[in-house]
Amino acid sequence: MIQLATPEIWFVCGSQHLYGEEALKEVVQNARAVAVGLYESQKIPLKITFKALLTTPDEIRALMLEANGNVNCAGLMLWMHTFSPSKMWIAGLSSLQKPFCHLHTQFNRDLPWETIDMDFMNLNQAAHGDREAGFLHSRMRLGRKVVVGHWRDPEVQDRLAAWTRAVRGWHDLQGAKFARFGDNMRNVAVTEGDKVAFEMRFGAAVNGYGVGDLVQKVNFVSEAAVDALCAEYERLYEVGRELQADGARHEELRDGARIELGMRAFLEEGGFKGFTTSFEDLHGLKQLPGLAVQRLMADGYGFGGEGDWKTAILLRAMKVMDAGLPGGTSFMEDYTYHLSPSGHQVLGSHMLEVCPSISDAKPKLEIHPLGIGGKADPVRLVFNAHPGSAINASLVDMGNRFRLIVNEVEVVTHPELPKLPVARAVWECKPDFKTACAAWIYAGGAHHTGFSYGVTAEIMEDFAEIAGIELVVIDDDTRLRELKTELRQNDLYYVLAQGLRN
Ligand code: MN
Repeated sequence: MIQLATPEIWFVCGSQHLYGEEALKEVVQNARAVAVGLYESQKIPLKITFKALLTTPDEIRALMLEANGNVNCAGLMLWMHTFSPSKMWIAGLSSLQKPFCHLHTQFNRDLPWETIDMDFMNLNQAAHGDREAGFLHSRMRLGRKVVVGHWRDPEVQDRLAAWTRAVRGWHDLQGAKFARFGDNMRNVAVTEGDKVAFEMRFGAAVNGYGVGDLVQKVNFVSEAAVDALCAEYERLYEVGRELQADGARHEELRDGARIELGMRAFLEEGGFKGFTTSFEDLHGLKQLPGLAVQRLMADGYGFGGEGDWKTAILLRAMKVMDAGLPGGTSFMEDYTYHLSPSGHQVLGSHMLEVCPSISDAKPKLEIHPLGIGGKADPVRLVFNAHPGSAINASLVDMGNRFRLIVNEVEVVTHPELPKLPVARAVWECKPDFKTACAAWIYAGGAHHTGFSYGVTAEIMEDFAEIAGIELVVIDDDTRLRELKTELRQNDLYYVLAQGLRN
């Protein structure tokens, strides 16, 4: 994946000097063993580094400031092995700008019933030490994830892995740059938003660039580079007969390759992690970029169609959170419905731009007319998304805050679609089609989404917590009446909690 960093999670243990040096030495040994054990579980995608045992307010504050300034530190895992009076943590936690997770665990899994004495009791105090920490976190209104259970428990490691993935996505956005080629599709509301508020909240910047600057890059592409890329297409895809090297429409494939090479050069030179296009602003480009966008997405670029920069950035974050997991992650749009009495389904697709990472087989590379945009026929990859559990996620700007909406779905197999010349996915929604769609619409979810098999609702929940934004999950537990109440209460909460800071 392009520009994929591998930062660390700092494992930090809290205690105090009440127990004597011998006890603290044992605490350090245990904390180090927990950090190593979590890392060696191989479930957690980033290195967990035991950083320190903290026992004084000065040490705590110094470490938090160090974490803020260290670009290789993505977040902190905190654990109070013994009792660490929480007033000591106020100055440090007030300064901390990195996300943290509170691991409520204990070094020993089982109580040694026969031998337990007061030494054991004094060493294994997380049961109350972590409650003291939790009070302060709540008193300070700090967003965090609390994970409970023995550190070798695979379920605990799964919870920590989800949080670590969210942290990685968040870390990736800090300082990230996104490019918009052209503006929004005219008159569309949901793809608009406050870019200043977004950058303040998410740490990622989006700026516009003239499509003419992109065209210049496309025109500068060498014939040798086009030759090499067309050869790569033939290796990777089932290239349609007419597009092959000796085919009647090969020149149009070369146009597509030029667009890809030009876009790639533009994005690499600018250090961008994602981009948007607009079919209403293609001046000087021969085709709407289809194949190019699909392949750039597969390399890890975020993308949004019709100027949808929020989805482009969300998709990049989802691709980073998904890194190393099977299944794939793509830009998606709820396109059309199957409303059969035997089961309602959604057919998701886009004009062209669906990422081949979700394909069930070797994609077909084809050329067909596109009844929109007024350009030459664009080349594109055509495939079916594979069956499996997935999510759709949408990020919308509610005017005073951002809302993340997540729906759990099940991608299913479907009949052949011989006349449909675009990549597609067919899914069923949880808890059921009617509830899910009504909930999505009450919540103001967009038609564009980030669609992923690897990223779970839990990872998105952790991401929303880190970002401090509203989350609406639509899953098997969703009931419409409760959801409407939740949305009304959230309206009030975010006004009060954020005040004028958005
Ligand atoms: Mn669209």
